[in-house]
Amino acid sequence: MRISYLALSDTRCTVQIPGCNFNCRGCFSNQRHNCGVEVSAARIAGHIPPGTEVMLAGGEPTLYRQELLSLIHELDQQKVILSTNGYLLDRSLLENLGGITVHIDLKALDPKLHRWYTGKDNATVLAAIRMLHDLDFDFEVSTVYIPGIVETREIENIARFLSGVGDIRYKIIRYVPANNFSGRPGVNEIQDAVNAAREYLGNVSSSIENRSHPVDRKIVNIF
Ligand code: SF4
Repeated sequence: MRISYLALSDTRCTVQIPGCNFNCRGCFSNQRHNCGVEVSAARIAGHIPPGTEVMLAGGEPTLYRQELLSLIHELDQQKVILSTNGYLLDRSLLENLGGITVHIDLKALDPKLHRWYTGKDNATVLAAIRMLHDLDFDFEVSTVYIPGIVETREIENIARFLSGVGDIRYKIIRYVPANNFSGRPGVNEIQDAVNAAREYLGNVSSSIENRSHPVDRKIVNIF
């Protein structure tokens, strides 16, 4: 499969996968237009120490369906977290991904806003969230708070939708400004959004209190 690099810390390895099927206006990922390098699943797995939690991130890892399944098969003794925009998570793929943890983004609930922001419809993403719940996955939904675009009202609507599916874990991510698209939300804005979501869901957190990326990680070039 194509990868950009591995980022290793004492407890986690992030496999950074290039390319994306969304075209988010405020994309802050440097992997979206990266081509990466072709490396076999076995070789990638061979560079990941036993017992390390593995995060598969992008870009969008589900672009490489068969290769993704091969890599997860190679990592069968390790905790694997798939970070995805959810657009390609259909039932057949999910049935083959049983046992892993999924972090799925929901950029917006409003279909027009989602299409304007990402270039894609959100119906399949909403369906994927329902399937993750029905198939009893360990999963979390996240939304990026983007000032002027996705704010507390939209996040409250997302939390209401999620509560209709189940008491789903929900995380609000503080936007990192890129290309002058929007600004960095204030801590108070994030806290207001968390409080609004907590009216509907029992497990709401934010990237302010709960970092996803270890600070001690180092980039490993395996090519
Ligand atoms: S889904 Fe993520 S990587 Fe893809 S365009 Fe949107 S922000 Fe960028």
